[in-house]
Amino acid sequence: MTTNVSAIAAPAANTPLVRTTVPRRPVGEHDVLIEIKYAGICHSDIHQVRNGWGEGIFPMVPGHEIAGIVTEVGPGVTRHRVGDRVGVGCFVDSCRECEQCRQGLEQYCTGKGTSTYNDLDKNGEPTYGGYSTHIVVDENYTLRIPEGIPLDAAAPLLCAGVTLYSPLTHWQAGPGKKVAIVGLGGLGHMGVKIAHALGAEVTVLSQSLKKQEDALKLGADHYYATSDPETFAALRGSFDLVISTVSAPLDFDAYLSLVKPDGTMVNVGAPEEPVKVALFSLIIGRKTLAGSMIGSIAETQEMLDFCAAHSLAAEIELITADQVNEAYERVLASDVRYRFVIDASTI
Ligand code: NAP
Ligand code: ZN
Ligand code: ZN
Repeated sequence: MTTNVSAIAAPAANTPLVRTTVPRRPVGEHDVLIEIKYAGICHSDIHQVRNGWGEGIFPMVPGHEIAGIVTEVGPGVTRHRVGDRVGVGCFVDSCRECEQCRQGLEQYCTGKGTSTYNDLDKNGEPTYGGYSTHIVVDENYTLRIPEGIPLDAAAPLLCAGVTLYSPLTHWQAGPGKKVAIVGLGGLGHMGVKIAHALGAEVTVLSQSLKKQEDALKLGADHYYATSDPETFAALRGSFDLVISTVSAPLDFDAYLSLVKPDGTMVNVGAPEEPVKVALFSLIIGRKTLAGSMIGSIAETQEMLDFCAAHSLAAEIELITADQVNEAYERVLASDVRYRFVIDASTI
């Protein structure tokens, strides 16, 4: 039976979020019903509510950093049991047949993948995300949250955590490697923690000096303000890996100048406008400019286990459903320390 559950939604593009109800499908053969406890606010939620990436599907219930408890399982479920602590990230299905799906890289599915919200599922029904009290998800797209991580601080790992873990491990951040993280927001602060835990030498490049003390506590070895023009001269050719988490268009040429010859700059930020790059920034020094999107299901589980083993989780500010619109404004003002998480019991 389809059930209506409480949620907070944007009724149309650029409107404040309001309370509503949305349908959740009946628990199928391989589904789990999750009572959502916490949902993180990702900057991607704001881009989508504001139609910054193109036409959204409204009403929109954002939220792809979901942590909760399994309250019901379908008859064919083997991976999770009632009472399990579980998480859901940015996608809830993929085609399972394309080359990427077969290799366990479902985030790059070239067939019909299904995003957790702002998408249509295989049956053409709109998907609604984590700013809600319950969600029904296929067990294969549901992660196990290790006991050691509090559920509220675990929620942001499902997007912010894996979005940094994936490029850091893919480009082998570790001992002897110099890594710069650009932007100290939700993604950036997880990048600092994970890169530090992997053994890399970590530098934070932030717009101002406001977050310096925090960055050093999170595990950064060095911190520079990018508003200071001296920074770019001082750090020229310094880094094996630069990861930009910035949500706005950036001067990529300036940041590529900080990469060592043969080094890589990975962009994970998803600004709404295109950016211009001078190809000479790559030619001189045989540099690579790459992108990376979230992580696979297996990689997300690996990241959660890594975080538990290293006692890592997000730095969060827990808010009620009534504070979400205000939180959006603070994220847009780079005033998030370092992830807002909605207490789903207030929805
Ligand atoms: P966030 O918490 O708002 O952090 C972004 C940070 O970027 C800010 O805290 C700020 O850091 C810096 N920044 C913002 N505006 C800037 C500007 N105009 N110039 C320079 N720096 C600026 O956002 P988030 O949730 O971490 O997400 C960051 C971006 O990644 C968003 O575009 C989001 O959509 C995208 N994203 C991508 C993926 C993926 O799979 N690739 C996954 C999740 C999110 P400082 O104050 O330290 O400068
Ligand atoms: Zn996200
Ligand atoms: Zn696929």
